[in-house]
Amino acid sequence: MSDPAQPTPDDQRPANAPAPAPVPAPVPGGAGDGTRAVHAGKPGADPWTPSLPGPVFAAHYHLPGEPTGPYTYGRMENPTWTLLEAAIAELEGGAHAVTFASGMGAVSAVLLGLVRSGQAVVLPSDCYQATRSLRARLESYGVTVRLAPTAGDAQARELDDDVALLWIETPSNPELDVCDIRRLADAAHRVGALVAVDNTLAGPLGQSPLALGADLVVASGTKSLAGHGDVLLGYVATDDAELAERVRLWRTTVGAIPGPMEAWLAHRSIATLQVRFDRQCASAQAIAERLRDDPRVLQVRYPGLPEDPAHRQAAAQMRRFGPVVSFTLADRETAERFLGALRIITEATSFGGVYSTAERRARWGGDAVPAGFVRLSVGIEDPADLLRDIEQALTAATAG
Ligand SMILES: *Cc1c(COP(=O)(O)O)cnc(C)c1O
Repeated sequence: MSDPAQPTPDDQRPANAPAPAPVPAPVPGGAGDGTRAVHAGKPGADPWTPSLPGPVFAAHYHLPGEPTGPYTYGRMENPTWTLLEAAIAELEGGAHAVTFASGMGAVSAVLLGLVRSGQAVVLPSDCYQATRSLRARLESYGVTVRLAPTAGDAQARELDDDVALLWIETPSNPELDVCDIRRLADAAHRVGALVAVDNTLAGPLGQSPLALGADLVVASGTKSLAGHGDVLLGYVATDDAELAERVRLWRTTVGAIPGPMEAWLAHRSIATLQVRFDRQCASAQAIAERLRDDPRVLQVRYPGLPEDPAHRQAAAQMRRFGPVVSFTLADRETAERFLGALRIITEATSFGGVYSTAERRARWGGDAVPAGFVRLSVGIEDPADLLRDIEQALTAATAG
């Protein structure tokens, strides 16, 4: 006979009732970043259920009678998204999150979905270049786009009553400039504009834009969040239920939905976000300090360097300084020799993953960076091996 003190699933629901979709359980308040990352969006510990239920592959759900949720059709809802979105909301400190097929899916949902013809948008002139490439699209829809650099006060000076949305990206990719989120958010709110922060570079454990006054956080989960270089994903997080609903409606309408497998892989990866990210940030700091002291390197940018122009503001609003170090070598040829000589770090775009990667950013065009500008994404390999790899590649690149 079974132990009557042990509830079984059959005890808890009537015969023939369907297995309920797992519901995310809240992480206890006051938990640290590691605990939050491990438990974020996980269902309660019901007997004989897994810690993270597998991906649900469903184009449609059995749906008798009136078509009411929670799960109706696969473009609208998916239980794997529900758990992942609870995890992201937990980490970003917001009430709602909406996930997308990619970071650009999320960026477009806010820039194209929340702004109307006749309104103005302020965009950073140095933000992620695919975001800037939406400028022409916005203008073709009758939206005025004003560009201003991230550093300094220029974005605040573009704010007036016409502005519906201020877009912030801090630290900016790839130049790693930083702006004051709270001050800009206050200034934007005074003219009635919404504030969206692209939080891809710092990530949810690096800074919390919603707590600093932003209305929306937008990010590419492709980078640190999923973190293994194998998944594209994006998200929008917000405290505002109505904004979340508008963003979700945009996703449903354009169909920029994450695949269940991608959503599940991202959620699985979030469990290790804090250990990965702490290791990455510590190694990035050590590498930035080493490069700073090397005469073969013309300039180093890392918000964690005390002498970096962004450091004061970064230290005031960031909890971790991120996995990206940008630095400039003498010219294109030196940078290409450096990248070619690396043995552990591989030449690739993107950042935030477990594998260390680097690229000469000017090869894409579109960023106002010198030809020898290298964006290095620090992974989780042994820091001593990364330092040695960089040292030998610098020597190879500059010998003779
Ligand atoms: C990569 C990136 C994006 C776009 O994300 P995808 O997942 O590649 O679509 C947006 N913003 C920033 C800052 C990024 O680095």
